[in-house]
Amino acid sequence: MTTLDGRVALVTGASRGIGAAVARRLADEGVKLGLGSRRGDDLGIVGAVAQSCDVRDSEQLERMVAATVDAFGRLDILVLNAGVGAYGPFLELAPDFLEEMIDVNVKGTLYAVRAALPHLLESGEADIITLASEAGRRGLPLEAVYCASKFAQVGFTRALDHELREHGIRCTNVCPGGVATDFALEPGRGRTKEALAGMMSADDVADVVLFVLTRPRNHRILETAFRPMTEASWG
Ligand code: NAP
Repeated sequence: MTTLDGRVALVTGASRGIGAAVARRLADEGVKLGLGSRRGDDLGIVGAVAQSCDVRDSEQLERMVAATVDAFGRLDILVLNAGVGAYGPFLELAPDFLEEMIDVNVKGTLYAVRAALPHLLESGEADIITLASEAGRRGLPLEAVYCASKFAQVGFTRALDHELREHGIRCTNVCPGGVATDFALEPGRGRTKEALAGMMSADDVADVVLFVLTRPRNHRILETAFRPMTEASWG
């Protein structure tokens, strides 16, 4: 197991849900944190650099990365977590939702890596964790655009591995099934809060992220797929 104490991480979409759980777990391990979200919440983590950062805007990501590196002198871990979802038959999906999913999930991922990569390369022992989804591994009904955005994240991260491995940067797709956050109640899901009961928790996902990050540096986990016991493994 590799210790994370003293490492520096940037988490996008850190204000709630999985991003907040990952941030808290990393803080417990002694990781210094840059926390970005539109809300700019610091989660009460002492010493964290929290600022408003909409991942649709590459300049805001540049500023977020710069603030983190200015504060801590380096960047070792990038958690690409900011994400949105909206569901329903493809032709019934409001164009605004289509644009937002592509802008946040796809472009936001690319912009974040562009901004952070020079510093991760400098680190030489770095990790990129992409919070993709089961929807990035298989087509799911009524999730065509969300799946498109998550397949894009998975493909991007997989392809990046080829160029970054030799520089000591590990690239991992973390692909959970249903997680009980606000996200699971997004438009078109048709779910009530009761549906959250059978899902995994954001802390369950944070555990997996921690497991990935603490593997010895002589190997890397390319993808993790995990689902709640209430979800079948098909479709
Ligand atoms: P969530 O509870 O809705 O949280 C989403 C986070 O993303 C919030 O912190 C939000 O903060 C941030 N965000 C949204 N739009 C943003 C933007 N334009 N710029 C910056 N930050 C933005 O969702 P979650 O369940 O934690 O999901 C996190 C990630 O896990 C997503 O990528 C999602 O696709 C993935 N995932 C979720 C599930 C699930 O079932 N929940 C399953 C598999 C994968 P602000 O509103 O403050 O900006």
